Amino acid sequence: METRKCKHKNIHTERTTLTLSSSPGPVILYDVPVQVCDDCGEKFISPKSAHEIIEKADLAANEEF
Ligand SMILES: [Zn+2]
Repeated sequence: METRKCKHKNIHTERTTLTLSSSPGPVILYDVPVQVCDDCGEKFISPKSAHEIIEKADLAANEEF
């Protein structure tokens, strides 16, 4: 069996839904940009996206009902 480490050369950007577990409850973030490897399907979050995610999570966490 050939074991070849994927170098993630072919990646594209996808939008996905992320669920973050936080208190008081899970935060669901829609339309989060992630990078997906075409070869192995592994997902990455770029630093820019991570920043966006944190901001969205913060906003969601601060919403009071
Ligand atoms: Zn890959």
